[in-house]
Amino acid sequence: MSDCCGGGNAQKTEHNAPTKRACPSCGKDGLTVPFATMLHHLKTPWANLAKDQPYYFCDDLECETVYFGSDGTAIAKEELRTKMLVKGDADGLACFCYGVSAEDAADPAVKAFIMAQTKAKNCACDRRNPSGRCCLKYFPK
Ligand SMILES: [Zn+2]
Repeated sequence: MSDCCGGGNAQKTEHNAPTKRACPSCGKDGLTVPFATMLHHLKTPWANLAKDQPYYFCDDLECETVYFGSDGTAIAKEELRTKMLVKGDADGLACFCYGVSAEDAADPAVKAFIMAQTKAKNCACDRRNPSGRCCLKYFPK
């Protein structure tokens, strides 16, 4: 996996939990997401105050679940205020640090800009990207 963001907070596991876990909806493995990152992307984080447990991000395009807890709690796409290309929103973003749409991402100059910025550690994927991980990982190929 790409580690372009320098292995910051996003890579650190909270609660010493396993770094991946099967999504309760689709069964595919999701990777841990920092709790604070999840709160930044929920529509009403105060209303779905998460339990003190590790949370994971499901990056499956078809799966309606975005976040899930180790107790099986699932948080659906509709509960997020962030739209994501990777979760099938056509108007969602590919890069959250620089607001790159699917259309922008097709421009090689834009991709080069992002690669240069991530290399210079000018990105903020650990909070701005709902997955808590580098946006380049989810760039349209
Ligand atoms: Zn899933």
